[in-house]
Amino acid sequence: MRALRLPNWKSEPELVEVDEPTPGPGQVVVKIGGAGACHSDLHLMHDFEAGAVPWNPPFTLGHENAGWVHALGDGVSGLTVGQPVAVYGPWGCGTCERCRVGVDPYCENVAEAPVPGGGGGLGLDGGMAEYMLVPQARQVLPLPDGLDPVLAAPLTDAGLTPYHAIRRSWAKLGPTSTAVVIGVGGLGHVGVQILKATTAARVIAVDTREEALKLGEECGADLAMLSGADTAQEIRQATGGRGADVVLDFVGADATLALGAAAARTVGDLTIVGIGGGTLPVGFFSVPYEVSIQTTYWGSRPELIEVLELGARGLVKPKASTFPLDEAVVAYRKMRDGTLEGRAVVVP
Ligand code: NAD
Ligand code: ZN
Repeated sequence: MRALRLPNWKSEPELVEVDEPTPGPGQVVVKIGGAGACHSDLHLMHDFEAGAVPWNPPFTLGHENAGWVHALGDGVSGLTVGQPVAVYGPWGCGTCERCRVGVDPYCENVAEAPVPGGGGGLGLDGGMAEYMLVPQARQVLPLPDGLDPVLAAPLTDAGLTPYHAIRRSWAKLGPTSTAVVIGVGGLGHVGVQILKATTAARVIAVDTREEALKLGEECGADLAMLSGADTAQEIRQATGGRGADVVLDFVGADATLALGAAAARTVGDLTIVGIGGGTLPVGFFSVPYEVSIQTTYWGSRPELIEVLELGARGLVKPKASTFPLDEAVVAYRKMRDGTLEGRAVVVP
C-alpha cells in the first residue's frame, strides 16, 4: 500500500510503498476513510528537532483518523469487520490511573505505551495510508449512526482539542460572557461551532485572513475581527470595556499571546492551544487580575465520544476539503500558504 511518511526531522514527507499492516493480538487494522492534515504536522516537518519529543521519524503521518474496521487481532471483541470507527489519537499505557479514566495524553507510565507520549502519526504509523494499525483495540471507537468518516476524522483532533479546551472553561461561558477564538483554521473553526453548540457565550473570531473570518461567521461567530495593533481594544469596546471571559489561542505566537492577555477580562481564562513557539511574560500586573493562563493538549476518550455525538447530530460539522493521498502534500502546502479553508482531509 502507499503511505505518506515523514523520513526525518526538518524534511518533507514522501509518498512511498510499504507493507499492509496485520493485527497482532489485541490489535485492530482500520481501513482509512479520512485522515486529517493538522498544522502540528507542519511543525513536525519544519520546527521540531531530535530530542524535542520522546520519539523520532520515520513514521507515516496522520494523527486524526477514521474509517472502517478492516481486520481484528486475536482476543479483540466488541468490534466487527466493516464497522465505521474513529481512532482516538493519543496512546497511553492503558493501565495507569490517567489512562483508566481515558486521559491518555497524560499517561503516567509512558514507558509501557506503544510509543512514549505519542500515537499513530506521532512516532508510530498514522492514517495517511490505505490502512492503519491501531496497537490497542480500546483506541478504536465505533462511530455514532450517520457520521461520515471524512468528518469524523477531523473531529478526533480539530474537534476534540478545542472541545477539551472549551469544556475546561464551561463555567465561565454563560449568557453574559464572551469567548474569543484566535486563529480560525482547522481547530479554530470547529472551536467556534463547539462554543455555539455547547454554550450561550458570544463568540468573537480573530484571524489575519479575511477568508478565515468569513468561515468563522459561517460557523456562528457573532463578530469577526482582522487581527492588528488595535484588536485588544476592539474586543474591549465590543464587550462594554470588560474584555473576553475566555480567550482560546489557536496560534500561540508572541503576538497572539500578547493579544489574549490584553483582551482577557479579570477572572477570565487564557488558554494556549496553538504551538506557535511564542512566550508570554507573566507578572502580577502584566495580565488582568486573576486571569488563569493554561495550556491544553488534545483531549480525553470520553470527550471524543461527546464530540462524535455532536458531529452525528449535526451540531458540529468541520468544513472539510478532501484530497487524494497523492495530493496530501498539496494540502500541507496550502495550509502553510494560508490558502486552505477549514480542515484538509486526505481520503486514500
Ligand atoms: P491552521 O493552519 O489550520 O489554522 C491556523 C489559523 O491561524 C489560520 O487561519 C491562520 O490564518 C491563523 N493565524 C496565523 N497567525 C495568526 C495571527 N498572528 N493572528 C491571528 N490568526 C493567525 O492550524 P490548525 O491545524 O488549526 O492548528 C493550530 C495550532 O494548534 C497549531 O500550532 C497546531 O500545531 C496546534 N495544535 C495544538 C494541539 C494541542 O493539543 N494543543 C492539537 C492540534 C493542533
Ligand atoms: Zn493535531
